[in-house]
Amino acid sequence: MLGEKALILLVDDEPANIQLLAGYIKDDYQIKVATSGEQCLKLCAATQQPDLILLDVDMPGMNGYQVCEQLKSSPSTAPIAIMFVTAMQTEEDEETALSLGAVDYLTKPVRPAILLARIKTHVKLKIQHDALVNMAMRDQLTNLYNRHYLLESANHRVAKAMRQKSPISLLILDIDHFKQINDTKGHGAGDAVLKSLAELLQQQCRLEDIVARFGGEEFVILFDECHLATAVKIAERIRARIEDSHPNGIFVTASIGVAELDNGNEGFSELVKRADDAMYEAKRSGRNKVLF
Ligand code: GH3
Ligand code: MG
Ligand code: MG
Repeated sequence: MLGEKALILLVDDEPANIQLLAGYIKDDYQIKVATSGEQCLKLCAATQQPDLILLDVDMPGMNGYQVCEQLKSSPSTAPIAIMFVTAMQTEEDEETALSLGAVDYLTKPVRPAILLARIKTHVKLKIQHDALVNMAMRDQLTNLYNRHYLLESANHRVAKAMRQKSPISLLILDIDHFKQINDTKGHGAGDAVLKSLAELLQQQCRLEDIVARFGGEEFVILFDECHLATAVKIAERIRARIEDSHPNGIFVTASIGVAELDNGNEGFSELVKRADDAMYEAKRSGRNKVLF
């Protein structure tokens, strides 16, 4: 949700209710609709998640409470704000809804101005939340994932690889003589090189790979479902592209180390250590090369 209208999902088994709500909010928000709890969950699993759900309680099949509980129990859907809009008026109903993690509870018939005011507040909070999460996991200069995010998610990936007996490979890349670029062309040019290289790395990888800035001029890529031979091939391609890229007219090369997880026998830090050793060997033996 950047620069565009927030997306609100209206969930009610009664189409007339959806129409009424949609009429109040359609000028200010993008809208999606679902007429059952099951359909709501399906829409929340899609790539473009809603920022806020207006959720009915009493529906055939899954009721609103069950939908809320399910959405809040999964890390990928928990951040979606949920506001109940219901005919159920008792204190217990409202308490149940809020204890399940809903941000608000409105009773029907809704008063349009109140509805809009509350939606505005919750959408604003949701957008601020998303921005904070994004800032915490990304490097500000390159917009790649940061070291913290990499270490967090690597443990999950390694655990998954162990469970599924699938391969994981890791690449560590360090720009050659980067200090010299800063010293001769200036720090701004150095920053531009880092940005351009980050873009190149992202382009060379699949969406499910984790591309991260690990330190100053050091980058890491975690390749999911990938054996050493393939990772080395990609690394060689990256090395060649960097050599040809001339960002800001500057000749840049990088040294790369690659390793595959010895699945079941080591953790992520051992994998990093082996890739790092290979990278240092590449430096020591002349730079601008890939070793594993
Ligand atoms: P080597 O080939 O052995 O890796 O040499 P090097 O000069 O690349 O390595 P060294 O570790 O000596 O220098 C890294 C430099 O990267 C030093 C530091 O000032 C610079 N650097 C770190 N972060 C940034 C940044 O965000 N922007 C810029 N412009 N420079 C940075
Ligand atoms: Mg370097
Ligand atoms: Mg370095």
